[in-house]
Amino acid sequence: MKYLVVLLVVFVGVWLWRSNRIAINKVKQENAEREAERQNAKKTMVACAYCGVHLPQIEALAAPRADLRSQLWFCSTEHRQFGAKQG
Ligand SMILES: [Zn+2]
Repeated sequence: MKYLVVLLVVFVGVWLWRSNRIAINKVKQENAEREAERQNAKKTMVACAYCGVHLPQIEALAAPRADLRSQLWFCSTEHRQFGAKQG
């Protein structure tokens, strides 16, 4: 009976350690994906929909639209406002 309790404690300990490791790996993977996305956004150049100036996507301002394929980008808040007025 004593050994059964020890075995149970060891089993619970291993289970806790494993679930903790899985959670850590998940967070690491999510961080890596986010970083890759950021790097990609740095490389991708977009044109301002109002004045046509090219700038990295990470510095560009997105128009408030849900559809990413027809996403419009702007170089500044002023141009975003003008662009929104135009349609
Ligand atoms: Zn512009």
